[in-house]
Amino acid sequence: MAPVPRPVTRFAPSPTGLLHLGHAHSALQGWRRARAAGGRFLLRIEDIDPGRCRPEYAAAIEQDLAWLGVDWDGKVRVQSAHLGEYRAVLHALARRGLVYPCFCTRADIAREVAASAAAPHGPDGPLYPGTCRRLTVDERQARVAAGEPHALRLDMARALECVPALAFEEEGQGRIACDPARFGDVVLARKDAPASYHLCVTHDDALQGVTLVTRGEDLKAATDVHRLLQALMGWPAPAYAHHGLLLDAGGRRLAKRDRAATLRDLREAGRSAAEVRAMAGFPD
Ligand code: GLU
Repeated sequence: MAPVPRPVTRFAPSPTGLLHLGHAHSALQGWRRARAAGGRFLLRIEDIDPGRCRPEYAAAIEQDLAWLGVDWDGKVRVQSAHLGEYRAVLHALARRGLVYPCFCTRADIAREVAASAAAPHGPDGPLYPGTCRRLTVDERQARVAAGEPHALRLDMARALECVPALAFEEEGQGRIACDPARFGDVVLARKDAPASYHLCVTHDDALQGVTLVTRGEDLKAATDVHRLLQALMGWPAPAYAHHGLLLDAGGRRLAKRDRAATLRDLREAGRSAAEVRAMAGFPD
């Protein structure tokens, strides 16, 4: 009989605030799946955005998860300690002509979008109109050499020419066809951050051997971009299990503004870890 694969799952929060019940729900999804099947559960701190992330929140994540009874295997991966690895991926894509520098400000993009008769919209808003894609190689090089701040964007049309039709395996739903083009030329490195969520998350899932990505359904659309990056880089495709988001009493999704729902407040209010696990949808 073939051995039953042991899943490698992960929880990958960004340390931009204290964990709330929604995070607990997400962490427990991955943790339970790994523990139930003798697999591995990893913790990764996604802190590449220096403007929003704080080391004290990263420390609080570890403390709050430990209190909740969620343990992880191996060392915590902290993305900000691996910027060179993300840079190497960007260089590899750039060498293949799949990435270009974008000097546009938000205002430039908004102006272009407003001026265009039919600006296409994607899941994250209006698509980048492609202004800097049309610069010549000499113009790009001169502006980069002059130190002009720039992001790096994926040339979506070229990238799609390099890969076959893509799909991903969603638990309980089977194969779902991807349509990354609806995101346009996504940013892979921001002006103010050395890489982007899409790049780091796919790089790390591959590096860490994650086989089942459990995360909120708000990130399901982004999986199209993640599959594209995986295919471009020759990384394996994990399976996905996107879960519903916890809602507050008013039916709104829990967010960091909801102080009352942080694990820390619940603990300080005298709730036990078992009670909080149950509130997060995982009664013992
Ligand atoms: N770091 C992302 C977040 O906190 C989650 C990444 C993922 O699970 O793919 O929203």
